[in-house]
Amino acid sequence: MSLFNVYPLNPIAITKAAGSRVWDDKGQEYLDMYGGHAVISIGHTHPHWVKRIEDQLHAIAFYSNSVIMPIQAQLADALNAISGKKDFQLFLCNSGAEANENALKLASFHTGRKKIIAFKKAFHGRTSLAVAATDNPSIVAPVNETDNIIFLPLNDIPALQACFAQQGNQIAAVIIEGIQGVAGIYEATDAFLQAIRKACDDFGAVYIADSVQCGYGRTGQFFAHDHAGVNADIYSMAKGMGNGFPIGGILIAPHIQAKFGMLGTTFGGNPLACAAALAVIEVMQQDQLIENAKTQGAYLIDALKQTKGVKLVRGGLMIGFEMEEVLQDIRKILLNDFKVFTGEAKPNVIRLLPSLAITKTDIDLFLIRLQDAIAQLQEKTV
Ligand code: PLP
Repeated sequence: MSLFNVYPLNPIAITKAAGSRVWDDKGQEYLDMYGGHAVISIGHTHPHWVKRIEDQLHAIAFYSNSVIMPIQAQLADALNAISGKKDFQLFLCNSGAEANENALKLASFHTGRKKIIAFKKAFHGRTSLAVAATDNPSIVAPVNETDNIIFLPLNDIPALQACFAQQGNQIAAVIIEGIQGVAGIYEATDAFLQAIRKACDDFGAVYIADSVQCGYGRTGQFFAHDHAGVNADIYSMAKGMGNGFPIGGILIAPHIQAKFGMLGTTFGGNPLACAAALAVIEVMQQDQLIENAKTQGAYLIDALKQTKGVKLVRGGLMIGFEMEEVLQDIRKILLNDFKVFTGEAKPNVIRLLPSLAITKTDIDLFLIRLQDAIAQLQEKTV
């Protein structure tokens, strides 16, 4: 037996983690500026998170969604409070793709319509509708192809308005990342999100804010879309929600009504996942991690702007930058020689998605290692 070979792997086995550090099976320490792809929100193996999951494990790990689970209501209340979306309803699932799949389905049920507007370079997941709304034909299987998705350019208000003017009464939803992650960190402008809100209001469509990667406090607001000052109708969440425990969900505006059987899941909302998610919110509140993400994100962006060889910086504590052509091996050098994990976006954007609890000391350490890596590469190319 072997694993289905779909991931190009780094030849490193990570076996231990704490805060913003991970260790391999040989005891080598690494600085984690990638957060396992934006998943680690409060820091690896945070003691409160470990304890809450352990306590829950001793009480009950699982029962189906056929009985009342008070911990789900607790999580809904905690999410209403921390997100500021007071009357929104919560549906729980297990991943980002599932969250978007349910959001899109719900928008279609709610409006009775079929067409979805998504944007160029968007990534919304790999399940059937989520992948159809993802602008990457290489991961869309023939069976997922559909005429129901309309791709428009990001931040192009006239194109959005023209599309609504032409077929607004067929549009079920507009789905958009507040900051496109997989694409390489491209922000939706406030004016664009406001225009989406208005078009959805004018034509009775549902505004879906994909917050799977950019949400959960990463940009200094609970949802990156909040910077625009308008509400979405549905927010999808996943990565930072469980700090590594698989959980996803959608927050649904009060005017969208549930019907029995409309959505459903076996594992979604299980007590263990809810305990993990509650621990995340508790630590975020207690340690003011949204504020920390804002402060450290601004500090890191400022420092990167002043770093020679770095071409472009975008994002909050969700940062993308490119290196001058001669320095394009920098990710490999950072990992192999300077023991720093970073993320990438094709073709050559380096993505930083550290824990929201990252300290200034760790950011400074990263900056020193980046400068040393740049110097090493420059020496080689002289
Ligand atoms: N939406 C966005 C914006 C993402 O970045 C991702 C994953 O990278 C997803 C959805 C899919 O999430 P998952 O991999 O948990 O299905």
